[in-house]
Amino acid sequence: MKTIHSLNFKNKRVLIRVDFNVPLDENFHVTDDTRIRAAVPTINKVISDGGAAILMSHLGRPKGPADKYSLKHILPVLNQIFGSECVHFSSDCIGEKALQAASSLPMGHILLLENVRFYAEEEKGDIEFAKKLAALGQFYVNDAFGTAHRKHASTAVIASFFPDSKALGFLMADEVTNISKVLADIHHPFVAIIGGAKVSSKINILRNLTDKVDHFIIGGGMVFTFIKALGGKVGASLIEDNMIDQAKDIIDKCKEHGVQVHLPFDSVCSDKFAEDGEIVTYPTNLISDGFMGLDIGKTAIEEFQSVIMQAKTILWNGPMGVFEMPTFQHGTREIANAVANATKKGAFSLVGGGDSVAAINLFHLADDISYVSTGGGAMLEYMEGIVLPGIAAIEETQPA
Ligand code: AMP
Repeated sequence: MKTIHSLNFKNKRVLIRVDFNVPLDENFHVTDDTRIRAAVPTINKVISDGGAAILMSHLGRPKGPADKYSLKHILPVLNQIFGSECVHFSSDCIGEKALQAASSLPMGHILLLENVRFYAEEEKGDIEFAKKLAALGQFYVNDAFGTAHRKHASTAVIASFFPDSKALGFLMADEVTNISKVLADIHHPFVAIIGGAKVSSKINILRNLTDKVDHFIIGGGMVFTFIKALGGKVGASLIEDNMIDQAKDIIDKCKEHGVQVHLPFDSVCSDKFAEDGEIVTYPTNLISDGFMGLDIGKTAIEEFQSVIMQAKTILWNGPMGVFEMPTFQHGTREIANAVANATKKGAFSLVGGGDSVAAINLFHLADDISYVSTGGGAMLEYMEGIVLPGIAAIEETQPA
């Protein structure tokens, strides 16, 4: 891994791709600054070496410039961390304005560029756009693990303009080390807890893990496709009919490999996707018509807890229920507590994915988890064995 560890950035303008795609409330205040704080060690390294840090990021999914998605909303957090006297902002990420701001940036200072996704060229991986970004700095650092699985202009394509002057930041290096550790040095029992809305977005990781894990704990909306595949009655619960065969296939593969699949025995159901409906707990394979499962039930929690408490390696991606609604938060909270307790007993736990990390933060358990990844999709793809474009681009030596 080419990392910034042994480099010195004195008098260098360093372009850092960070992942400041953080949640904002209706007043544009940052509600979870985990990803910003995760980039601080790399920024500090550049400025304490006597260099200048030029930060690039996306925020949300804008279709062109939009105030709502402006990175200026991040400034209060950066000002608080680094002091407003050394934090600057450019309202464009390329062109004259950005060039002027970058070239006049004093060493030891930080320049935050406007959202790179205000240009459609960013997601297209446009080489001309990448060249314009590259013109702003003398060294390129990628520290945006959350977007490392994307071949975008600022995450991968830009690296070809820095054949001998590019590296991964501290966060990227940390992510890769910790995620690789799970795969390379598995202590058994290995329990993978996979939840969230859809089977379709988790199918590859499920497949990839069948020859590695001892137990799958499956929760969240994806449960019902598995239950239907096994002949159960799931009422109005979330279902992906086109994934039923794949769900059956996963169950068969698990049998072949001796992997135990734990589906929730019972589910907390409602007749509405809201907190004010009628709430009834049903066996997950016998849910009444008109009711949908929105959290795992008490029996399921007990079974899942006992499996987690025996684990030596734990991977968790995806909540157990609709944890954004307090009424359906209990299962996710109890599983989070169990992961934290197993970690205290010596298990290595890796939690990743926006919603699982949000849940861990909501329950104030981040310090009790071995490693909380800032990447969701990126973490899963890395675990699937896919070479992430953002990392590959740093290793390549071909100039643009
Ligand atoms: P993912 O991004 O695939 O990890 O999915 C996270 C989302 O799944 C969260 O917004 C949850 O509210 C949602 N979710 C979890 N359990 C259920 C469920 N039983 N029914 C519908 N949505 C769910």
